[in-house]
Amino acid sequence: MGKLDNKVAIITGSTSGMGRDTAYLFAKEGAKVVVTGRNEERAKAVVEKIKADGGEAMHVIADTADLSSVGDIFNKAMDAYGRVDILMNNAGQLSVTPFMELKLDEWQQVLNVNVTSAILLAQLCAPVMKKNGGGHIINIASVAGCAAHWGSAAYVTSKHAMMGLTKSMAMELGPEIHVNGICPGAIRTAMLDSVGGEEAFGFMVERSPLKRIGAGDEIAAAALFLATDASSFVDGQLIRVDGGVDI
Ligand code: NAD
Repeated sequence: MGKLDNKVAIITGSTSGMGRDTAYLFAKEGAKVVVTGRNEERAKAVVEKIKADGGEAMHVIADTADLSSVGDIFNKAMDAYGRVDILMNNAGQLSVTPFMELKLDEWQQVLNVNVTSAILLAQLCAPVMKKNGGGHIINIASVAGCAAHWGSAAYVTSKHAMMGLTKSMAMELGPEIHVNGICPGAIRTAMLDSVGGEEAFGFMVERSPLKRIGAGDEIAAAALFLATDASSFVDGQLIRVDGGVDI
């Protein structure tokens, strides 16, 4: 018996990285997984692997920079599976533009993908979760939500917003819905590669007692904890999964 049997999980940004690793783990634990992202080929590949391994999944293509696409994710999940029990707001866009060069377009796009789409999707899913007696929402923030990182004002602000949003949602959506978040440190994914990969993050390796970069399946393991009764008395928390950097 899986830990997520009969549950339906929407995981945004699950065509790659830690979202994809979480999709594989949740499906292995029995969840029906709604895979979302922008790239159809990659989305199909994730769904095919889950099905080949004996699980159940579907995909929805949505660019959440365009907020009107958010409803599509929810509607297609409901059409296919008739319920949503777990929502993991994981899709994220990096921004490495220094503050004085930040343009309104980029700011709005980063906020839409990283925060606003998470709000809209949670507002759609929460009534369904409540009607079914409960649910779990997991917001992916970042260590960049705990402190500023030079040259990424939009990203840092969006991740600080995810921290406040997680606490506010927990306060207002309980007792039926548990809302928690994860602050990943440097995790080996396409996003990390886009800013120089492991080599560029040597300073974080040095500051961490574990002396290494993390892996997506280590975020997936934390997400599974937050998606099940193993975390039954945990609410409104942001768990750092960062190898102990900055302790
Ligand atoms: P990734 O690039 O592999 O995954 C990002 C996912 O977000 C992809 O599936 C992508 O399709 C999706 N996405 C991006 N822009 C989108 C858009 N406009 N519309 C819809 N989907 C979009 O990177 P990852 O590291 O797995 O990132 C997952 C989350 O983890 C992000 O929120 C990121 O900010 C956060 N994070 C990553 C790290 C790290 O070191 N990798 C550290 C802290 C936080």
